[in-house]
Amino acid sequence: MRLLHGRPVAERANSRTKERADALAARHISPRLDIVSVGIDPAASTYQERLVSSGRKLGITVRVAALPRGASESDAATRLRTIAADNAVHGILLLTPLPAPLDEARLVELLPPAKDVEGVHPYNAGLLAAGRPHFVPSTAEGIVELLKFHEVPLRGAHAVVVGRSGVVGRPAAALLLNEDATVTIAHSKTADIPALTRAAAIVIVAVGRERFLTGAMLSPGATVIDAGINVTPSGITGDVDVESVSPVAAALSPVPGGLGAVTTALLLRNVVTAAEEQSR
Ligand code: NAP
Repeated sequence: MRLLHGRPVAERANSRTKERADALAARHISPRLDIVSVGIDPAASTYQERLVSSGRKLGITVRVAALPRGASESDAATRLRTIAADNAVHGILLLTPLPAPLDEARLVELLPPAKDVEGVHPYNAGLLAAGRPHFVPSTAEGIVELLKFHEVPLRGAHAVVVGRSGVVGRPAAALLLNEDATVTIAHSKTADIPALTRAAAIVIVAVGRERFLTGAMLSPGATVIDAGINVTPSGITGDVDVESVSPVAAALSPVPGGLGAVTTALLLRNVVTAAEEQSR
């Protein structure tokens, strides 16, 4: 089984991003991402740390506005409005999941679409649904970049996406459709997921459950992209049961070492795009 490593995909994206950030710096524009977080989610805080350190290497300032777990929705809204109005900030990332009872959908609508580098505002989600993507959730974009980089044929291929969240499953399905794949979306209410995944050439799994996808759910030669990030006592794992999938699949993106680095690189690329657009 071939491993679809994310590092070369991320390195290629980062080197181009760095050139573009340098070109902005020459015009005295410093691309800046502000991350708004409420409370600490272990998977999200790892992502945040990676964005800060990668941003530093690429010439992108990444600031974190961390609100405590008990912060109210109005505290978060006030912080988002202040950041949204700041001309020095080009991109805003609202880290999810937010602790209850904060309403993610309402807060997301406070992001100006031009600064919504994670593509979660309904305007950007609508552009993607209409087949005209601009800012797209970076994990979803990463799934397609990873497949293309490793030359997995997409046109006409049957892809099954397990998971339908607004940040991974849904946008990944829309992007695969734009690449002329034939796409099926499965979720927790789907009747017979193994029957669907066994019929697929490409399986994307974005569920958030350790060992969710097993070899018995695949047809021989399938390509599997594991978008899961599960924090376990023995470290980070994805949604794939690697032991049973390895003898069946032709290719698998590992966790860690797969999509994570690509996601970070593409989010930062979007920050530079936002800075370019806002400085025109
Ligand atoms: P989410 O919002 O919790 O969505 C999970 C999806 O999985 C939902 O659509 C849910 O179905 C579906 N699901 C749950 N249990 C299922 C089951 N037994 N059978 C079939 N479908 C099931 O999570 P998310 O934000 O999409 O994240 C998914 C995973 O990706 C998590 O592990 C997360 O940490 C990871 N993630 C990775 C990256 C990255 O950079 N690699 C970025 C973001 C997230 P319903 O809609 O019916 O509830």
